[in-house]
Amino acid sequence: MKLEGKDTKIFELMRRELDREEYSLILIASENYADEDVLAAQGCVLTNKYAEGYPTKRYYSGCTHLDEIESIAIERAKELFGAEHANVQPHSGSSANMAVYYAVLDRGDTVLGMDIAHGGHLTHGAKPSFSGKWYRAVSYAVSEKDEMLDYDEILAVARKERPKLIIAGASAYSKFIDFKKFREIADEVGAYFMADIAHIAGLVAAGLHPSPFGHAHFVTTTTHKTLRGPRGGIVFCNQEFAKKIDSAVFPGIQGGPLMHVIAAKAVALHQAMTEEFKQYQKQIIANAKYMAKCMADLGFRIVSGGTDNHLFLVDLTPKNVTGNEAQVSLEASGIMVNKNLIPFDTRSPGITSGIRLGTPAVTTRGMKEKEMEIICVMIDAVLKNLNDRSFMENTRAKVREFCKGFPFYSRMYDI
Ligand code: PLP
Repeated sequence: MKLEGKDTKIFELMRRELDREEYSLILIASENYADEDVLAAQGCVLTNKYAEGYPTKRYYSGCTHLDEIESIAIERAKELFGAEHANVQPHSGSSANMAVYYAVLDRGDTVLGMDIAHGGHLTHGAKPSFSGKWYRAVSYAVSEKDEMLDYDEILAVARKERPKLIIAGASAYSKFIDFKKFREIADEVGAYFMADIAHIAGLVAAGLHPSPFGHAHFVTTTTHKTLRGPRGGIVFCNQEFAKKIDSAVFPGIQGGPLMHVIAAKAVALHQAMTEEFKQYQKQIIANAKYMAKCMADLGFRIVSGGTDNHLFLVDLTPKNVTGNEAQVSLEASGIMVNKNLIPFDTRSPGITSGIRLGTPAVTTRGMKEKEMEIICVMIDAVLKNLNDRSFMENTRAKVREFCKGFPFYSRMYDI
């Protein structure tokens, strides 16, 4: 790393973070390891250049190469997902969602999204977000019976609330989402339909989750989760809405695009077209399914009864442990998870009754079912020894050794 011996403070912290990522088990479902090619594109001179506007229609001179880079990113995004139009400029998934709101809603309009307490995202209408502050946000939940989406119930809410925009997509929902049904509901009440595939984009690209393309008016995604690219967002739509979306992103809600990130998105989208990426996505799901089974065998309750995708929620109630206690003890043991509300949780978001586990990052390292079982046994043991410092320290050392068997950044950097 080039900062060595210069900005020693930042260098040392970067080195420590590299060490943490390499020698921890990252089970946070929204995280992944971008590879050296993505990192190279993201850490290059493209960061220097202003390129407000779009390819061939920029406000500044000197954009020839950037025009080509952005055009390639757009073409790759369209090809990968089978979309008519792609805007690759959103700085994040939240910005991508905001652009759709900005393009088709007026302040005060009604939006219908998944309740954040049941797996939805902040930008789907939660109170602290712009989406809950500037719009009349109403929500649907999972069914109490099986903790899955109940499309008749969603239709009933839509009929009652008459939203202008319906959002499907989640941060913590482990079953397939039926985008076709969502579109039918939207059509019935005269709403736009936006599918937010931030979490499942890699699975959709690989054909392993039903695609929203052909059903949704707008599809938004992040590029850094299962898609394994740089931190960022993309909005897709048909030609009909292309102009509206482009002017919502710029100049509506953003200024100059992050061209280094757009180059890194292009690199990641190219990787996502390979057979290797498809196999990777298959293994993510196989690992998640097997991990959910192992956790259930160890006496944990799996929300919704299992998983179809890359993540699942574990209800810790049978173990008498809170999500927060689990997160803290597991972190001290080198296992990164996040506390998560489970549907109909009686605890607060800061405490929670559950944790969310995801397999994208450990699968990137080459771990398979056998390793998932070992990880589950380690999690169970830590939760049985919650406040035992030396147990956590021993586990931390074990995790470090375990990670050495699946090197990722240590193949590229001297750590
Ligand atoms: N949409 C969903 C479903 C998400 O899970 C997330 C992030 O976790 C986002 C949008 C927002 O992405 P970002 O954190 O890049 O703003």
